[in-house]
Amino acid sequence: MTEEKTTPEAGWNFDNSYARLPESLYQVANPTPVRSPELVAASGEVAKALGLDIQALHSRQGIEILAGNQLPEGALPIAQAYAGHQFGYFTKLGDGRAVLLGEQITPGGERYDIQLKGAGRTPFSRGGDGRAALGPMLREFIISEAMHALGIPTTRSLAVVTTGQPVQRDTELPGAVLTRVAASHLRVGTFQYAAAGGTSSEELQTLADYTIQRHFPEVLAEENRYLGLLQQVIQRQAELIAKWQLVGFIHGVMNTDNMALSGESIDFGPCAFMDTYDPDTVFSSIDQEGRYAYGNQPQIAAWNLARFAETLLPLLHADREEAVKLAEGEIYRFTELFHGHWLSEMRAKLGLSNEEPEDESLIQELLEMMKNTRADYTNTFRALTFGKLEDTPMYGTNEFAGWYEKWQARLDRQPEGAAHSEELMRSSNPAVIPRNHRVEEALQAAVTKGDYSVMERLLEVLASPYAHSADQLEYTTVPESTSRPYRTYCGT
Ligand code: AMP
Ligand code: MG
Repeated sequence: MTEEKTTPEAGWNFDNSYARLPESLYQVANPTPVRSPELVAASGEVAKALGLDIQALHSRQGIEILAGNQLPEGALPIAQAYAGHQFGYFTKLGDGRAVLLGEQITPGGERYDIQLKGAGRTPFSRGGDGRAALGPMLREFIISEAMHALGIPTTRSLAVVTTGQPVQRDTELPGAVLTRVAASHLRVGTFQYAAAGGTSSEELQTLADYTIQRHFPEVLAEENRYLGLLQQVIQRQAELIAKWQLVGFIHGVMNTDNMALSGESIDFGPCAFMDTYDPDTVFSSIDQEGRYAYGNQPQIAAWNLARFAETLLPLLHADREEAVKLAEGEIYRFTELFHGHWLSEMRAKLGLSNEEPEDESLIQELLEMMKNTRADYTNTFRALTFGKLEDTPMYGTNEFAGWYEKWQARLDRQPEGAAHSEELMRSSNPAVIPRNHRVEEALQAAVTKGDYSVMERLLEVLASPYAHSADQLEYTTVPESTSRPYRTYCGT
C-alpha cells in the first residue's frame, strides 16, 4: 500500500447501505492488491457526474484506489450474494470477481454503486481466479459508454487499470480492473438467492423494502408496495429492452443474474450490435441454441421477470393462489408495455410524430424487406433519414418503391407535414454504433500494442451518436463480409 500525502482530494464520499442489509446477502471481501497498476482508460464525464476529481484519479494514489491496492476513505468492500438462471438452469452465484467498494453519494445527493470488477477472489469465486482480462474490460468500457450516449439506461465505466499481472485463459492475457458505476447491482438473481433459502422470509422483505427505497420510493404510498415494485421493474425492463431492439443491441447473456432491477443494462460480456438485420442474429459462442438471439430478447426478458415475480409471491399476498394471480396479471402486461415503447420509438425512427393504425404494418413491411435483402440495420435508417435511398439494398425493387410511396404519403398526412421528420429521424437514428470490427480494432491495438489512440478516437465518435457529422462517416461502414460469422466470447 502506498501513501501519497500530496494527492488532491479525489472526492470519494461513501455510504454503505448494502452492507447494512442482512449478512446473508453478502460477504466481506477485500480487493486483492495487484503488482503495478497503470490507468489506461478513464471517463472524465463519469468522474464529474460522481463528484470526483479526474486529476486526482490520475494521480498515483488515485490509480492505487482504482486497482484495489488502497481503499478510499469510507469504503467497505463486499461481494454480493446472488443466484441466477444461466441459460435456463438455476445456480447459486455471487460476485466471484467483483467487489463493491460502497455507494458514492454525489454532490447532488445521488447514490451510485462503485464496483471493482476483476479485483481478485471472493468467497463466491468457486473455481475462478477472481480476475479479468484487459480486452473484455476495455470492451465493457467502450460498450457501456456508447450505450449511455445512445440514450439507453446502462451501468457506466469510470476507469480501467492494467494490473501488471497476467491472467490465464486459453492463453495468457494481460489483467485489468474495471471500475463500474451502477444505480445499484440489485438483480433478479439477488431476489432469487433470497427466495431460494439464502435468507429468511423477513430478510426477503427487508431486501424488497431496500429495493423500493433505493429505486422506486414512489410505490411506498401504494396499498401493496410489493405489487408496485413488480410493476415498476416490469415497466423499466419493457422500456429498456425496447431500446435495445431499436438500436440492434444483442446482450448475449440475458441470464437472470445479469438483469438489473434498476432497469440499467448490465454485464457487457459477449454482447454486440447487429449489422445485418436478422432477428435470428446471435454473436455469443456459447449461445448455441440461440436462446439469446436478437429477436428473442423481449420473450427472455418476460421469462426473467416471471422468475422475479415468483420470488415476490410471499410478499404479494398471504394467499398463494391470490399472489400467483396478481403476479401473472403483471407479467402478461410486459409484452404490451414493450410493444408500446417499441412502436412509439419506431415511429420516431421513421419520422412519424403522430399515430395512425396502419403504422405498425408500414414498419413491419420495411423490416421484412430489410431482412430479405440482408440490409444493414443502422445504415438503412440513416439512408432513409437523409433520403439516400440508393444506399440500401432494397432500392430498385417494386416492393421498395411501393413502400416508399406509402411512407411519403403517410408523412404528408401529419399535421405539420413532412417538414420536421428529418429532425426527428436524425435524433432517433444513430449515425454510429460500436460496430464489432471497430471495437475489435480498438481492442487489438490496445491489448497487443499498448496503443490506446484507436480506442480513444472510437470513444470520441461514439460519444455523439446522433451528431451525423462528417468525421463519423468512416465509422459507418460495415465490415467486409467474411466467411466466418462474428463471434464474441464469454471467456472474460
Ligand atoms: P458473468 O458471466 O460475468 O455474468 O459471470 C457469471 C458468474 O461467474 C458471476 O458469479 C461471476 O462472479 C463469476 N465469474 C466470472 N468470471 C470469474 C472469474 N474469473 N473468477 C471468479 N468468478 C468469476
Ligand atoms: Mg454477471
